[in-house]
Amino acid sequence: MRVYLDNAATTPLDPEVIAVMTDVMKNQYGNPSAIHGPGREVRTLIEEARKTIARLLNVTPSEIFFTSGGTEADNMAIRCSVEDLEVTRIISSPIEHHAVLHTVQELANKSKVKLEMVKLTPTGQIDMVDLERLLHTGKDKTLVSLMHANNEVGSLLDLDAVGAMCQKYGALFHSDTVQTMAHYRFDLQKTHVDFLAASAHKFNGPKGVGFIYISNRNKIKPLLTGGSQERNMRSGTENVYGIVGLAKAFQISHDQMDEKTALISGLKNYMKERLKAEVDGVRFNGEENGLYTVLSVSFPPSKVADMLLFKLDIEGVSASGGSACSSGTDIGSHVMSALNADPSRPNVRFSFGKFNTKEDIDFTIEVLKKMHNTAVAT
Ligand code: PLP
Repeated sequence: MRVYLDNAATTPLDPEVIAVMTDVMKNQYGNPSAIHGPGREVRTLIEEARKTIARLLNVTPSEIFFTSGGTEADNMAIRCSVEDLEVTRIISSPIEHHAVLHTVQELANKSKVKLEMVKLTPTGQIDMVDLERLLHTGKDKTLVSLMHANNEVGSLLDLDAVGAMCQKYGALFHSDTVQTMAHYRFDLQKTHVDFLAASAHKFNGPKGVGFIYISNRNKIKPLLTGGSQERNMRSGTENVYGIVGLAKAFQISHDQMDEKTALISGLKNYMKERLKAEVDGVRFNGEENGLYTVLSVSFPPSKVADMLLFKLDIEGVSASGGSACSSGTDIGSHVMSALNADPSRPNVRFSFGKFNTKEDIDFTIEVLKKMHNTAVAT
């Protein structure tokens, strides 16, 4: 048996998504920039995809631009704010995904911006008092870049509250919503944000495609120059089947939102309760009511501690130690070290998706119990 509990890393494709993508691959080969019929048909597919996303976020299609994924969208928001919107200060956090963290650090190292890191609570939430203190001080044009949900521990940001605070202090607000887009509903007429980043492979869509939302308030120039695609905002021949697959996955996620949320939250809670009851000494990272797809577990020190992920894999369970995992545990995770995690306790991120079942959790618990008991006995 193989159990996949690494949905925060990537999700399996929805069969309906595969079907629409395959149809485009087989039948729609025109270049969307061409003026002939096959080209125009493909252009229509892209614009329909854009409209689907815009409608579900309650924005205009002119505010959605397709990218190669979350990394490009994050880079575009941050780099173009500095380049084109006179941003000279960035407020961010030490637990951002590297797509954000390495970008803001590079800009700071090149003296393009002053970088200030907001304080965190022990469970990985933003200290809102500290954020307001930072926003209150200084006269620099500021971009706040804070992720909606942390991909390792699942702590959530109050987007409405941070958006309102940024508006009050005249700061721009970018949020990396890669882990939450299509897992929660957004109404961007109610939430004040300037930029959001999304990636299709996190919601049962294809890899290598995503989008950026850019509020009409902000006029930036393209990050990638060339053939002027995406209304001159993102050059390069469009990833047509990727875009069509993204829109389909986005629509399905919204259609299934309530049942999907209930199913996945139920699996997460079930796993948490069973771990508490059956594996001695487990603790949980992140906040109690965090992202419903992620359960970050801190296991007690044991002889298998540093090989936990490898051993899980051998037993048939795919999980993750976090984005910086290289050795089978979370060693090297900038998130865990920013949260002062005890280095003797291995952390494993179990992340759930709509194709998981209760049997997957039962199987994983049995594997963990067996491993834990053997480790304690030896
Ligand atoms: N931001 C977060 C929070 C992520 O989890 C990821 C993916 O791991 C990314 C950005 C990067 O997205 P992509 O893989 O589409 O470049």
